[in-house]
Amino acid sequence: MKIAVLKEGAAGERRVSATPETVKKFVALGAAVAVERGAGDTASIDDAAYEAAGATTGARGDVLVDADIVLGVQGPDPASLTGIKPGAWLAAGLNPFGARDRVDAYAALGIEALAMEFMPRITRAQSMDILSSQSNLAGYKAVLDAASEYGRVFPMMMTAAGTVSAAKVFVMGVGVAGLQAIATARRLGAQVSATDVRSATKEQIQSLGAKPIFVENVAGIEGEGSGGYATEMSDEYKAAQAELVSAHIAKQDIVITTALIPGRPAPRLISDAQIASMRPGSVIVDLAVEAGGNVEGAVAGEVVEKHGVKIVGHRNVTSRLSSDASALFARNLYNFLSAFWDKEAGKPVLDEEIGDAIRLTQGGKVVNARLLS
Ligand code: NAD
Repeated sequence: MKIAVLKEGAAGERRVSATPETVKKFVALGAAVAVERGAGDTASIDDAAYEAAGATTGARGDVLVDADIVLGVQGPDPASLTGIKPGAWLAAGLNPFGARDRVDAYAALGIEALAMEFMPRITRAQSMDILSSQSNLAGYKAVLDAASEYGRVFPMMMTAAGTVSAAKVFVMGVGVAGLQAIATARRLGAQVSATDVRSATKEQIQSLGAKPIFVENVAGIEGEGSGGYATEMSDEYKAAQAELVSAHIAKQDIVITTALIPGRPAPRLISDAQIASMRPGSVIVDLAVEAGGNVEGAVAGEVVEKHGVKIVGHRNVTSRLSSDASALFARNLYNFLSAFWDKEAGKPVLDEEIGDAIRLTQGGKVVNARLLS
C-alpha cells in the first residue's frame, strides 16, 4: 500500500495534505508514504522532516508510480496525474460543483476521486470533516483581517488621554466559521452580535456572550435543511431579514459574513445601500466571496472600498494559516483513512454511507448522486 502526497499546484495554495505527524501514523499502519519534493515548503515543513518521519521524497512522477492512494488539499490538474494507476484513490477537496470538468477528467483516468468536502455531517465523521476544520480557522482569521484593516481598536480602552469605545462586530451566518468569529471578536474585546437562518444558533450565540439578532413571526422561519445545512429562505423571510439587518448594520463597525448554501451560490445578505449606511472606516469581511459573495461589490482576492467602507474578499483564507490549516487537514485525512483501515487487506475499505457520499468517480464513470441529479 503506497500513499502519495502531492505538492499543491493551485495559485496561492500554501497548505499540504500530510504532515510528519500523519506520515508517521500511516507508516505505523503499514503504508509506504512518498511525498512530492517541496510539498511542505509553504507550510514550514521541509523534505527532511518528512524523511525523518519515514517517508521518501521525490519528483511527482516517482511518487505517483504504483500509488494506491493520492492525497491533496485541492484537486490536482488531471494532466499532472500522468502515470497514476487506474483504480487508485484521490482524496482531496475536489470542489465537485465548481470544477466539474476535472471530475470528468478523473473519471477518464479510471481513478476513484473522493471529495472530502462531501463527507456526511454525522457524528462519527466529525473528525474527518475538512469543511469544519478549515472553516474554524477561516472564522478566526476573518476577525484578524478585519482588525488589521480597521483604523480603530476592538476593545474599550480607558487611557489618560480619554476613553476609546469598543468596536461593534456583527457576524452573519453562525456555522463553524461564524461561531469562531464570534469567539475571536469577543476575545479581542468587541461588542458582538450575530444572526443566522437556523434558530438553533440563537442559543449558541448567547452562550458565547454575543447578542442574537433574529427575524421573528415570519412564515418559513426555520432555515435548517438536511445535515444541519441551511436551506434557501422564503421571499417573505428575506424581506424581513433585510429590514432587520438594515437597521442593525448601520450601527456596526465590523461585519463578517459566512453564509453558504451547499451546491448553490451564496445568499446575498448586504446590499450597496446597506454598505452606504455604515460609517466610513467600517470593515466588512466576506468569507463567502469565492461562492459568489454575501456582500454586493465584494471582489474575490481583493480589498475594495465602497462609500468609505472596506470590503475584504480574500481568497482561500485558511491557506494564510498554512501550518495549522495543514495540520488539521492532514489529520482529517488520516482520521478518514485509518477509520476504514482493514488490517488483513492492508488498506482502507469504505462503507456504503461514507463511500457513496464522497465517491465522485469509479470504473471510468461519474457515480456521485449529487452530481448526477
Ligand atoms: P455553512 O458553512 O454551510 O454555512 C454557514 C452558515 O451560514 C450556516 O450556519 C447557515 O445556516 C448560515 N446561512 C445560510 N444562509 C443564510 C442567510 N440567508 N442568512 C444568515 N445565515 C445564513 O455551515 P457550517 O459551518 O457547515 O455549519 C452548518 C451546521 O452543521 C452547524 O450546525 C454545524 O455545527 C453543523 N456541522 C456538523 C458536523 C458534523 O456533525 N460532522 C460537521 C460540521 C458542521
